[in-house]
Amino acid sequence: MNASSDYQKLRAHLAFLRMTAAAEALPALLEQAAKDKLTSQAFLERLLAVEVGAVDERRRASLERFASLPSPFTLADFDFSAQPSVDPRLIADLGTLRFIDDATNVLLIGPPGVGKTMLAVGLGHAAVTAADLAARCHRAALEGRWATTMRFYAGPRLLIIDEVGYLPLPAEAAAALFQVVSQRYLKGSIALTTNLGIASWGKVFNDDPMIAAAMLDRLLHRSVVLNIDGDSYRMRSHRARAEATRRAVAST
Ligand code: ADP
Ligand code: MG
Repeated sequence: MNASSDYQKLRAHLAFLRMTAAAEALPALLEQAAKDKLTSQAFLERLLAVEVGAVDERRRASLERFASLPSPFTLADFDFSAQPSVDPRLIADLGTLRFIDDATNVLLIGPPGVGKTMLAVGLGHAAVTAADLAARCHRAALEGRWATTMRFYAGPRLLIIDEVGYLPLPAEAAAALFQVVSQRYLKGSIALTTNLGIASWGKVFNDDPMIAAAMLDRLLHRSVVLNIDGDSYRMRSHRARAEATRRAVAST
């Protein structure tokens, strides 16, 4: 057996296993390994790390597509000075995504325009992009739990339900929403935004206070509730523009 036929076989194995990133990196890594006099272990580690990195990146991109979040905002884009009722430390803590580990829910309650959707979407992006995710996948690969970990991530770990309460839900829709909340209860986190205080949830559910109470019971059992009040961010920039126009007009 000579080196060149070993090399050909190695290429064939990588192709068969569809490890395209490793296959591509192979010649350069072999050269580097010879130069650095790497042990076979160290070489193998470098080769597999290339493939793990590529799979991680594909995984992240497909999660991002699957999440189909409506806007690019991340938590870092949130202007806390404009919304003093939102505690930056609480958001930073939620941003670590520890809440997902024990299926805690996040309820964002407040009037229109205060940033409920923005924060929920920011959490969604955090869930997709978290370095935490990459680290877990990497660990899983090292420990031989790749397949199970991938199945695990296939089911969304955070479900965002935006804008509950703006429109009353017909009975079937209320039942479906209740079903989703019950199925995820203690299994998967929900971030839910609503303009209605908890006391008025009966109204959303077709004036069915029972279903509203049952749903709230599950949502709140393990949850973080953010009551955001204050001015609409949209109105705020609108007011600032109006103010600037007024001043401009006054000074002429
Ligand atoms: P809500 O869901 O509470 O009605 P949104 O999250 O849709 O409000 O926010 C309305 C608009 O104002 C969005 O364009 C959002 O990006 C912006 N916005 C709201 N609050 C902030 C904030 N604190 N910092 C930056 N942008 C904000
Ligand atoms: Mg909204």
